[in-house]
Amino acid sequence: MKCSAEVIERRLCAFREMCRRRGLRLTAQRMAVFQEVAGTEEHPDADAILRRVRRRVPSIALDTVYRILYRLEDEGLISRVQMSSDRLRFDGRVEAHHHFVCSECGRVRDFTSAAVDRIRLPEEALACGEIRARHLQIRGVCRECLDRRAGRKGR
Ligand SMILES: [Zn+2]
Ligand SMILES: [Zn+2]
Repeated sequence: MKCSAEVIERRLCAFREMCRRRGLRLTAQRMAVFQEVAGTEEHPDADAILRRVRRRVPSIALDTVYRILYRLEDEGLISRVQMSSDRLRFDGRVEAHHHFVCSECGRVRDFTSAAVDRIRLPEEALACGEIRARHLQIRGVCRECLDRRAGRKGR
């Protein structure tokens, strides 16, 4: 799923602003990598980002893509999604949100929940250190996969 034009424009603005503030050159490579992460809701991994970026910047290498991704993450322009048994994936959405991860197709869905954001954290978590963010990750089987299964049974 592609993000709406409005969302993409807002993210690109933040990106250009950061480059200006940090005196970073707006290279074709940085721009292409950022656009791939910021323009999709798919939470792509670095290989998928590399494949798409190469359509525009054919010479770019995987380690360059990683370097750019980590830098963008440091600057708070993208976030990282760590799945337990999966590869590292990247997210153009940096506002607080949560994930539903499908165990069958690997799709990652975003959702927001005021209820989750308000949960009083247990003492056990607070005792570990200073809380900076909270993130709920739910694993399950997505609607599409459930429908596909149901369809297969129906035939
Ligand atoms: Zn699925
Ligand atoms: Zn997300």
